[in-house]
Amino acid sequence: MSAPAVNTFDIVILGGGSGGYACALRAAELGLSVALVEKGKLGGTCLHMGCIPTKALLHAAEVADTAREGEQFGVKTTFESVDMSGVNAYKDGVVGRLYKGLQGLVKSKSIEYVEGEGRLVAKNVVEVAGRQLTGKNVVLATGSYAKTLPGLDISGKIMTSDQALFLDHVPARVVVLGGGVIGVEFASVFKSFGSEVTIIEALPRLVAPEDEAISKQLERSFRKRKINFKTGVSFSGATQSGDVVHVSLETGETIEADLLLVAVGRGPVSAGLGYEAAGVTVDRGYVLANERCQTNVEGIYAVGDIVPGLQLAHRGFAQGIFVAEHVAGLNPPVIDEMGIPRVTYCDPEIASVGYTETQAREKFGEVETYDYNLGGNGKSQILQTQGFVKLVRQKDGPVVGVHMIGARMGEQVGEAMLIYNWEALPSDVAQLIHAHPTQSEALGEAHLALAGKPLHAHA
Ligand SMILES: Cc1cc2nc3c(=O)[nH]c(=O)nc-3n(C[C@H](O)[C@H](O)[C@H](O)COP(=O)(O)OP(=O)(O)OC[C@H]3O[C@@H](n4cnc5c(N)ncnc54)[C@H](O)[C@@H]3O)c2cc1C
Repeated sequence: MSAPAVNTFDIVILGGGSGGYACALRAAELGLSVALVEKGKLGGTCLHMGCIPTKALLHAAEVADTAREGEQFGVKTTFESVDMSGVNAYKDGVVGRLYKGLQGLVKSKSIEYVEGEGRLVAKNVVEVAGRQLTGKNVVLATGSYAKTLPGLDISGKIMTSDQALFLDHVPARVVVLGGGVIGVEFASVFKSFGSEVTIIEALPRLVAPEDEAISKQLERSFRKRKINFKTGVSFSGATQSGDVVHVSLETGETIEADLLLVAVGRGPVSAGLGYEAAGVTVDRGYVLANERCQTNVEGIYAVGDIVPGLQLAHRGFAQGIFVAEHVAGLNPPVIDEMGIPRVTYCDPEIASVGYTETQAREKFGEVETYDYNLGGNGKSQILQTQGFVKLVRQKDGPVVGVHMIGARMGEQVGEAMLIYNWEALPSDVAQLIHAHPTQSEALGEAHLALAGKPLHAHA
């Protein structure tokens, strides 16, 4: 006879995405009893519909461009075509291996993994298919969904990233609605795959939350890549006839496309899950939580995309770990949202951490900035990429913002993240030695210059 199921845990987690599973793994490591409830696939958006599959597409896009541009490096290559079944097999293979690994990891810990749609039915009880799981603590981690605009139905050739990840062909003409992170990443992929791409963005610039200089450089690079974009322009509607989408703008202009990608942001998954009935404060669907991820109801925490702030997988991981450690009584340090690194993986890549110049001026008053052009960086020249590293420091104080753009610059964000979080002065970084020739030298050189001793740069 099998043992009766235990239904009381130290932590019950609703949602097995980045935030939820990180919390479960850390809690189990700390010896807490954990139930993890997931209605879909363990790993959530990031693994199955977000970070990983999109970055595989972006890598395939880079390979396509490398094939096209061999001549530039004296290598005779020709680009033939993109075979989407091959691209999807590669992408799905990457996701599948990581999924298997994650399932194995969860299985190897003493985590009660409960499949099914859960609902908060009392302050400390999650119900799944008639089974009631009682938690001394409950963690809400139900994530987010791709939003659309009122009156714009997702069907046929009008899609969100959820459908666009599984295309079986390369569409000839793509309109991307939204010039944020997801929009510019897909625009970059489609262009490299051979589509004609137009981005429509209502705000005055692409990647608007980034430093203004970054948006300008991205727009310059996209112009060079012949990615069309219209900023400060509102969308007014779209109709489909046959396989063609007619996209109308408020200017009166209509654009024909074979695919309209709606990338207007992601909304919280919280409706109908019993959060409000349990007394949890919810604002436009988002669960409000303090810097310790605590909601207004004692013992209920919230992590990841359902909490207002950066919708990034590593923020979810960090919050999940934080909650586990907090419940275990380890008193972990609170997370500084500004210290969370941000990468946009289009070509060229954007990487940043901390305050933009405008935000820093508002927060700290007087600031100093320095732009180190990648024209002076050997490795960037070898890669034939353009861009810069921009530093923002408090006047006579630490570096409070690092903003980078250029091929592969996402890989430099780790050092930038340490510089910001360790409140480094330019002189602290200037004395550290960066390997030559690497793109990390650009960060080193920017700090040398800001410390008053530029090497391959003018002061
Ligand atoms: C196209 C795209 C690209 C992205 N690229 C990046 C990137 O490069 N880097 C990055 O950091 N972030 C990226 N993100 C964002 C990242 O995916 C999210 O920030 C992250 O997945 C949020 O984690 P989460 O745990 O809050 O939510 P999710 O990952 O959405 O997980 C929530 C989980 O809860 C489950 N769930 C929901 N309701 C219930 C219920 N009632 N019962 C049981 N289970 C439930 C869902 O099935 C899901 O598995 C990307 C997102 C998209 C869409």
